[in-house]
Amino acid sequence: MSTTIASISTAPGIGGIGIIRMSGAQTFEILEKIFKQKNPQKIEDIKGYTIKYGHIVDNEKIIDEVLVSYFKAPKSYTTENMCEINSHGGTVILKEILELCLKNGAELAEPGEFTKRAFLNGRIDLAQAESVIDIINAKSEKEAKSSINQLEGFLSRDISEIKQGILDVLVNIDVTIDYPEYDTPEVQKKEIKDMLENTINKLSRLEKSFDNGKIIKDGIKTAIIGKPNAGKSSLLNAILKEDRAIVTALAGTTRDTIEEFVTVRGVPLKLVDTAGIREAVDEVEKIGVEKSIKQAQDADLEIAIFDSSKPLDAEDLEILNLIKNKKTIILLNKTDLEQVISEDDDRLTSVTSNILKISALNKTGIEELYDKISEMFNLDEINLDNEVLITNLRHKNIISKAKENALNAKNALENNMPIDIIAIYIRQILDDLGEITGEVVTEDIINEIFSKFCLGK
Ligand code: GDP
Repeated sequence: MSTTIASISTAPGIGGIGIIRMSGAQTFEILEKIFKQKNPQKIEDIKGYTIKYGHIVDNEKIIDEVLVSYFKAPKSYTTENMCEINSHGGTVILKEILELCLKNGAELAEPGEFTKRAFLNGRIDLAQAESVIDIINAKSEKEAKSSINQLEGFLSRDISEIKQGILDVLVNIDVTIDYPEYDTPEVQKKEIKDMLENTINKLSRLEKSFDNGKIIKDGIKTAIIGKPNAGKSSLLNAILKEDRAIVTALAGTTRDTIEEFVTVRGVPLKLVDTAGIREAVDEVEKIGVEKSIKQAQDADLEIAIFDSSKPLDAEDLEILNLIKNKKTIILLNKTDLEQVISEDDDRLTSVTSNILKISALNKTGIEELYDKISEMFNLDEINLDNEVLITNLRHKNIISKAKENALNAKNALENNMPIDIIAIYIRQILDDLGEITGEVVTEDIINEIFSKFCLGK
């Protein structure tokens, strides 16, 4: 019999309410000892999805006034008996109630253990379980939507369709292997070939969706570059101000950089080295071109900003040279002042046709900037209503591996290899795909996946 686990499921800190969750066979027994219902009812008489009012007590001492939700197996998140104790928020009360649960027989849940049980008990598959963490961590609406789709089983459905197509053909192959005196008939070869091509197409589509999935999940890694005083920090402020909902500071790859994730008008940007740009307040400290060059490495998008009220100088030309072969937008800033650089300037147009005029100070032209980024990264084409997006690197790698095996099988078929060899490759595709949904997966992988979850989920 599995243990009964307990955990605080709400975020640490002060809040209106807090929730302690328990799951496992002993849930109601433990609850009985610590929960005094206002209108007592036997557990057998309480239906699942019922909320009861009362007090959490430690012997006679009242700890808190609470509402408790009952979920009876198998109709619960984990499929086990479960309860959720809604107490007042605040760390002290929540901890006291959790400790009471533990004292009376529950064990402290590991991170992600509730969801892990939902997976191990067969309520959801591994891909669905993984989506839960993505929903919790989502930084933009699109990311949340794609994760919800995955939880609803969109990806799992696609994978199982591919698997079914393979299985149908594999059954026929097995018959042939059992009767090796017959040559593989041409009809069968054609059937295998069609199936493999179909599989390769579907896997390629999924593999390719990772480009968009990655943008949605990680944002477009964007460097704002320009010489001192061009208007980098003014632009940064204009962008950050627009993101009313979320600004997340992420630790960058090196110790002194900070990346900031913003989503404006559905365009997710991961801005590189925002700390560097912001800190450069006084003239001496202004970020030099050299530092810009460093930032621009490995960004998905360079936004190069120039002071259009001054002629282009050697430093500007150096920046233009730097961004020549990259995905770039040139911003001619300070258009509220008299202009000396034209957008038709050959030195600019030879680098990119993406040239926009803005005033970071007056915040004009910023909207056009988002439109341009949207257009460059085809963000409007990302349709989450009926499209499966791979956002998880683990899934992407498995899909690539499965595709590789499908290509190997096709090769083997074209080279008239024996049918049992071809069958080995084909079975491998099935095994690969099973790693996504979790039928074929090691305990280590499962543990690693769930260890990334937060407590109480
Ligand atoms: P950075 O060194 O590239 O970060 O440049 P800043 O954003 O600090 O801007 C340098 C100076 O130019 C500041 O005094 C800003 O107020 C000013 N500035 C920035 N953008 C504009 C603009 O669009 N128009 C005008 N007139 N001044 C601007």
